[in-house]
Amino acid sequence: MIKTQISEIKNLLSTPKNIVIVPHRNPDGDAMGSTLGLYHYLKLYNHNAVVIAPNDYPDFLKWLPDDETVLKFETEQDQSNTLIEKADLICTLDFNAFHRTGHLMAEVLEASKATKLMIDHHQQPDDYATYMYSDVSMSSTCEMVYNFIEMLGDTDKINTKIATCLYTGIMTDTGSFRFPATTSKTHHILANLIDKGANNSQIHNNIYDTNSYSRLQLLGRAMQNLKVIPELRTAYMTLTQAELDKFNFKKGDTEGFVNYALSLKGIIFAAIFIENTQDKIIKISLRSKGTFSVNELSRAYFNGGGHTNAAGGRSEEDMPTTINKFISILPHYKQDLSPDQNG
Ligand code: 5GP
Ligand code: MN
Repeated sequence: MIKTQISEIKNLLSTPKNIVIVPHRNPDGDAMGSTLGLYHYLKLYNHNAVVIAPNDYPDFLKWLPDDETVLKFETEQDQSNTLIEKADLICTLDFNAFHRTGHLMAEVLEASKATKLMIDHHQQPDDYATYMYSDVSMSSTCEMVYNFIEMLGDTDKINTKIATCLYTGIMTDTGSFRFPATTSKTHHILANLIDKGANNSQIHNNIYDTNSYSRLQLLGRAMQNLKVIPELRTAYMTLTQAELDKFNFKKGDTEGFVNYALSLKGIIFAAIFIENTQDKIIKISLRSKGTFSVNELSRAYFNGGGHTNAAGGRSEEDMPTTINKFISILPHYKQDLSPDQNG
């Protein structure tokens, strides 16, 4: 983001504005942390700001400071539409294409004449933003919101609420500070956030130590379903709707399951296929290690995208057909996946 843009944004924010802040559909820790973090920052300047999430998010995020102010477009459409229509500024965080909010909300965002600010770390951004802060090397959108506040010269204004939100998203998007995008700068920022009041141990506890018994049972089932293809260093698992129902599935329950497949010794590519009969899709999460790009594979075959090492996608076929397709495309990536190649 260049200096002239920063001074334009500073100018724009110098008087109270109507501001709508939007995360992607099925928001995760980084999406909710970054949007609420920016919300608390904008509140310092008395803006009329609101976070509108496309739909609901998991319970393990429902303690973030002022999360109860978040509107859900899916269930609060009239109010959301009005706010989007009268917005001076729309900030889109942790995604870079309107369709990631779902088609109904995407149409409303598309039609809006408001100034747009994008802050995001995913690949291949669309070209809709007046001000675009896009950096695929960043650990998280929360780290970028910190940088954004820094560029505006306001790090000294970061309070406990902002710090808590931003710490949460950096923690969840870096797999608790272990993914390669975690840099020394990330750790410096985290240290500053702790100094500003983020309670690191409590945040970790709020996110990761609130498992239900049924979620652990569901994890057990996913592990039983784990399949390994050692000659292509690939592991995958499935969960059918019947299995989700059996273990009383709630939004967010399958978060992180795919990482167990990736933790197998020698595995560099992992996938989880989760049936959703209501949406008539199989939701796919893909993870990799090294240079093998699950973003590219997902774009090419599963109507999705994301990052090199973490991407999502979907299939509109049934589970057996989807798995057959997955297995049949693996040989196309033999060069990357075979153990005798580097990766
Ligand atoms: P997850 O597997 O946790 O749903 O998503 C992994 C990463 O890929 C996240 O950064 C997420 O935002 C992104 N992602 C998930 N699904 C999609 C999708 O359908 N399209 C795109 N472009 N990105 C996705
Ligand atoms: Mn993110």
